[in-house]
Amino acid sequence: MRNRLLQAFREILYPSYCLVCHVKIPMGDSKGSICQRCRDSIIPFNPPFCRKCGRTIKKAAFGENLCGECETIHFFFERAWTGYPYEDTLKEAIHHFKYNHKPSLGSFLSGLLIRFVSDYHIPLTQCDYLIPIPLAQAKLREREFNQARVLAINLSRHFGLPVVDNALYRRRNTASQTGLDRSSRWKNIQGAFGVNNQEAVKNKRVLLVDDVLTTGATASEAARALKGAGAQAVFVVTIAG
Ligand SMILES: [Zn+2]
Ligand SMILES: [Zn+2]
Repeated sequence: MRNRLLQAFREILYPSYCLVCHVKIPMGDSKGSICQRCRDSIIPFNPPFCRKCGRTIKKAAFGENLCGECETIHFFFERAWTGYPYEDTLKEAIHHFKYNHKPSLGSFLSGLLIRFVSDYHIPLTQCDYLIPIPLAQAKLREREFNQARVLAINLSRHFGLPVVDNALYRRRNTASQTGLDRSSRWKNIQGAFGVNNQEAVKNKRVLLVDDVLTTGATASEAARALKGAGAQAVFVVTIAG
């Protein structure tokens, strides 16, 4: 009783506002920093999914299950699963999560990812373990947390797969991929990853975890490093794409 009263006072004194649309979040909405309306506006990709990048195929020709982009690009991963379109509410939520030190959004975003994986029966548990896409040391110091690691830990808790975060590393601090055009993104990220624990990787089926799959260049380069170290297969899961 006393706790509930205290909580009510706290909500009156410090009301919380939706990070995306800025409306006041009603009392008792324990989900926190994104309002119900914004949460409901995030709709997952619909099948048919591209068998390589996981995004919805807009116009599937009979028997085709690759999107236009994946027909021309070679990815080093076997396939990616991407939950939701990277736009509007979700784009803003991910931005707050990454750049404005809003780690509290991590559980909301992880929840979205878990829901997608469960609803579409994505066979994550066929992998041996999860690897979050690592940040370069300098970026990790600046941001203080790795958003991909937060997602990986929450996925791991939910699906019972271990997280291995001492096998893959960033060799160098690449320029941000944001704002680069398609071909610069591929060039910028080339050779950015290394493996420092071959034993952990050899003959394993690895699931890479990241927040967003844009061109797929980052995930593909990470997969290239893992395959080079003997990984049997590399899959990718991201919230948005
Ligand atoms: Zn809102
Ligand atoms: Zn595709």
